[in-house]
Amino acid sequence: MTVPSLRDLYLKGKKALVRCDFNVPLEGGKITDTSRIDASLDTICYILSQGGSAILCSHLGRPKERTPELSLKPVAEYLSQALGEKVALAPDCIGDITLRLIHDLPMGHALLLENLRFHREEEANDGDFAHELARGKEVYINDAFGTAHRAHASTVGVVRFLSERAAGFLMMRELEALRLLTVNPEHPYVAILGGAKVSDKIGVLKNLLTKVDAILVGGAMAYTFLKAQGIAVGKSRVEEDKLEVAREILAAAAARNVRFILPCDHVFANAPEAGAVAETGTQIPDDKMGLDIGPRTIQQFIAELAGARTVVWNGPLGFFELPAFAAGTLAVGVALADSGAKSVIGGGDTAAAVAGHDWAKRFTHISTGGGATLEFLEGLELPGVKALES
Ligand code: AMP
Repeated sequence: MTVPSLRDLYLKGKKALVRCDFNVPLEGGKITDTSRIDASLDTICYILSQGGSAILCSHLGRPKERTPELSLKPVAEYLSQALGEKVALAPDCIGDITLRLIHDLPMGHALLLENLRFHREEEANDGDFAHELARGKEVYINDAFGTAHRAHASTVGVVRFLSERAAGFLMMRELEALRLLTVNPEHPYVAILGGAKVSDKIGVLKNLLTKVDAILVGGAMAYTFLKAQGIAVGKSRVEEDKLEVAREILAAAAARNVRFILPCDHVFANAPEAGAVAETGTQIPDDKMGLDIGPRTIQQFIAELAGARTVVWNGPLGFFELPAFAAGTLAVGVALADSGAKSVIGGGDTAAAVAGHDWAKRFTHISTGGGATLEFLEGLELPGVKALES
C-alpha cells in the first residue's frame, strides 16, 4: 500500500479540499506560534501554482459547538500575510453560503473554511457531514499529520466522496521520517523517552523494545521505574499503579538485551516553581522531588548517542519550562544534533523544548504531531494515513 503524493495529482482547474493542522496556540486572539501554518505553506503554494484552488480546512481547539474565541479568523489573517494575497474566511465549513464562496473562488486562490469542530459531526466521523464537506470539491489533500491518528470526517469519512486524493508535502515529510524508524533502521538504534507519565508511553515502550538497542529514560517517568526497583525517589512524581508494569518492562528489556538506562543522578528541589533552589546528587532526599537528570546521567546519555545511527526522542528529560531544570534536555539535544545519527523528534513538548535553538535545525526531522507520532511508535495504524492509501 502506498500513499499518493500531491505531485501525483493533476490539479489544474480543480478545487482541492486541503485538510491542514492549523491548531495553533492563541493568546488574546493572537497566534503565539505559527509553525504549524508555516509547515503547510509549500503544499498550499504548490496547489495554487499548478492552477488549482485550495479550500483549506482545520480544527482549532476542542469546541463542541460554535465558539467565537476559537474562530480561525487569526489564521486567515496570517495566511493572507504569508501568501501575499487575501485569504477569506468562510462563515462555516459547510452550508450554502460557503458553497457559493467555493463556487466563486477563482483558480489559483485559497479560501479558509471555519473551524471544523464547530460541528460535533466532525469528530463523530458522520457520513452526511463528510459528504457535505466534500461538496463543491474535486480532490482531497491531507496535510494534517497532527490529526492523522484520529478517524474524523475530515481525515477519514470525506475520502469516500473524493476518490482523487493525496498526502500534502508536510504529511509526506512526516511519513518519510517515520519510515526511517521502521523500514530497516540503521543500528545502533536508540530511543530517548521522557515526559510526565509512564502510562502515556507503555505501548510505545513495549513496541520499541522489539526494535531498538537502547532506551534512555528521563523526565518524571523515570521515577516510576526507579521506585519499581526499590530506589528511593523522595517526593518525585510516581505512578504507583504502574510499578508492576514498569517491572515487566524492565524484565522484557533485560530478556531482549536492550540497554534500559535510567538516571543515576538528579537535579531536585522542593517543587517545580520559579525561584526553587535546585540541588544535584545521586540520592533524592525524602522531602525533594527529582526535576531533571543530573550531570553524570547527561554524560551517560551522551555516550550512548555518540555511536548511534538512528535516534527517536519523545518527551523532555526534565521540567524544561523552568531554566533551572532544562539543562538535561538541552545538553542531550545538542549532543543528538551533533551525533550525525538520523534523528526524529516527536512533536508536542519535545518539539517545544528544542524550539528556537540553532542546533535543533540539525535534527533530521522535528514532527508536528505529538499524539500521532506516539501512536505510530506504539505500532498502531494511523487512520488518516490509511484512508489515503491506494
Ligand atoms: P509529556 O506531555 O508526557 O511529554 O510530558 C511533558 C511534561 O513533563 C512537561 O511539562 C515537563 O515539564 C514534565 N516533566 C518532565 N520531567 C519532569 C519531572 N521530573 N517532574 C515533573 N514533571 C516533569
